Amino acid sequence: MRLVLLGPPGAGKGTLAALLKKSLKVRHISTGDILREEMKNNSALGQEAKKYIDNGELVPDEVVTKLIESKLTANDRVDGGYMLDGFPRTKKQAEALDRILKKIHRPLDYALYLESTLPVIIQRLTGRRVCRGCGALFHVKNRPPRREGICDECGGILYQRADDNAETIKTRMEVYLKNTQPIIAYYEAQGKLKNVDADKDSEELQAILMKTFDEGHKLNQP
Ligand code: ADP
Ligand code: ZN
Repeated sequence: MRLVLLGPPGAGKGTLAALLKKSLKVRHISTGDILREEMKNNSALGQEAKKYIDNGELVPDEVVTKLIESKLTANDRVDGGYMLDGFPRTKKQAEALDRILKKIHRPLDYALYLESTLPVIIQRLTGRRVCRGCGALFHVKNRPPRREGICDECGGILYQRADDNAETIKTRMEVYLKNTQPIIAYYEAQGKLKNVDADKDSEELQAILMKTFDEGHKLNQP
């Protein structure tokens, strides 16, 4: 299965991806996770990305496109399928992705568009907690860890992302509407778009999607 996940920040792309990864057994490639890892390691790329991320702005297209290209073209890494989360985010990135996918002969099956409403988005983002160790996602109300502040998966410490504050969320929404929203039409024109009601609970969504993939005869093929 080859997917991209689209939708506003806080629509639940990361949570859904973690669930689908288990049932689809495909690689989950999240540009946000990769960039946060680089920031944690204080690499040159991490330092460069931090300037944009902390302000809710987009990291330049060339930087993220190169990152994704290296992940997708590494030896046999995506032969069993892939799920891109947080990429593409601009029309330029979407076009670059098509070029890369053509080169590796691994075209998309679906672009899943997670539609969500603003109050739900804000509630999800402000309550979100992330594991420092493994990146697992939690929410103080909707998905609390068994032990407060501690990751269920690896025992790591949970933290709140610097960009999950009211002011930066507002910028991220504006950036989304201006740059990312337009690529919905791009995938619709390709006949790849699948709308998903992301206000629903992630587990319910996972079940609905698995059924859709099955009916489309997309399961059990790379
Ligand atoms: P969310 O979906 O919650 O907004 P992500 O973890 O996907 O968060 O991304 C966090 C930040 O990383 C973005 O606000 C942006 O600065 C940067 N980023 C991630 N993916 C991309 C991308 N494809 N293009 C440009 N910037 C990106
Ligand atoms: Zn963890």
